[in-house]
Amino acid sequence: MAFWPIYLTGGDDMNYASTRDRKQERLYSLPEAMMTALAPDGGLFFPVVIPQINNAPLGQCSSFVEMAFEVLHPYFEDSELESSLPEICMDAFSFPVDLKQISPKTTVLELFHGPTAAFKDFGARFLASAMDRLLELSGQRRTILVATSGDTGSAVASAFHGKKNIDVKVLFPKGRVSERQRIQLTCWDSNVSSYEVDGSFDDCQAMVKQAFMDPGLRGLASANSINLGRLLPQTTYYYFASFSYALQAGRMPTIIVPSGNLGNCTAAFMAQIAGAPIERIVLATNANRSVEDYLEKGSFEPRASIQTLANAMDVGSPSNMERLMYLYPDFKDFKSQIKAFSVSDEEIRATIKAVYDETGYVMCPHTATAECVRRRDLGDREAIVVSTASPAKFNHIVEPIIGRQLMVPSQLESLLKRPCKAIAIKADYHELF
Ligand SMILES: *Cc1c(COP(=O)(O)O)cnc(C)c1O
Repeated sequence: MAFWPIYLTGGDDMNYASTRDRKQERLYSLPEAMMTALAPDGGLFFPVVIPQINNAPLGQCSSFVEMAFEVLHPYFEDSELESSLPEICMDAFSFPVDLKQISPKTTVLELFHGPTAAFKDFGARFLASAMDRLLELSGQRRTILVATSGDTGSAVASAFHGKKNIDVKVLFPKGRVSERQRIQLTCWDSNVSSYEVDGSFDDCQAMVKQAFMDPGLRGLASANSINLGRLLPQTTYYYFASFSYALQAGRMPTIIVPSGNLGNCTAAFMAQIAGAPIERIVLATNANRSVEDYLEKGSFEPRASIQTLANAMDVGSPSNMERLMYLYPDFKDFKSQIKAFSVSDEEIRATIKAVYDETGYVMCPHTATAECVRRRDLGDREAIVVSTASPAKFNHIVEPIIGRQLMVPSQLESLLKRPCKAIAIKADYHELF
């Protein structure tokens, strides 16, 4: 496979600022942004400029890792991590990325071949590798707090497990994750502890936010999708997918992203702004419709999360809305750039079944929201459907729909055999310390 080379315009140092500091008065380096959860003003870190990329041929890139390095390098320029970026990319992206055409209209971008079988492995592994190197350099230690609606926690636990300078506390909502997800969240030991919170994902997320705002607590770091170190690596596969598609098809793809906390789609918009050949980015959500409501009403109202079959997207108050609104501050702009469509559980089931009957391909419930949007809202137009998790992680939902058993991916099989341990707590962040 051939790619295009990437040329950068501008040569200034790469800096980062808070989404609440529009004038960009206070600048941060990338290591600062990665090691601090939130900016001191409560905003989220974002690049001051998104490096522009030219679409001239990048024939030299022979692998995903090489291309990821090219794409990420400008963000790391002149930082302490610049020289280790090739190794970080090799460490982090140690599994395949697949772009599969499953029918004349649907090409699936499979992002679930990592150790925990969901796309969050990309961001979590990259962040773990980068943070570990930074802490090694400075001789420090940190505790990662991570709230999860399902897949984040296991990806973060797996990525950070065994890292020398980092402890991890994973918070997940009791009774709202699948059995296999629960095992993957609680099968760790040594530097990783798991907390089963009597509350929703939003409660877990609020607890993490409160802990970060508590001046009495020191040495905390974040690995949620609010961390820029998770977001940047997620831009890489949008280049891979759009360049590969554009080469093959001779036109730019529409990409449909199953969305919850909006980190993955924010990465897609960043890639598009940087010049990746993407025609349009469309968000698919489950019944949690805060983005759709914003598009209709023009005012953003966080909501309580609703439980759905696509549980990793059960987010009523998506953190990365702040980044999307920072990217597109004008409502008209926001509305013209960002399309979002909500999908019901019934439609998720029907889509899994229809795709299986028509093509033999099995989708997880999250991926099915995107395919449903392609069929229902995009006039059955051709698109890349982002596949965020392996269907085998959601076997209890998928198997009854397709009427057969799914093979367990080998990486999951070995995790599922480990002993599990969780600490039950109330939805109060003081119980974590
Ligand atoms: C986290 C997750 C999503 C949602 O991604 P966001 O970046 O939070 O929008 C979708 N599908 C799966 C399987 C996930 O784990």
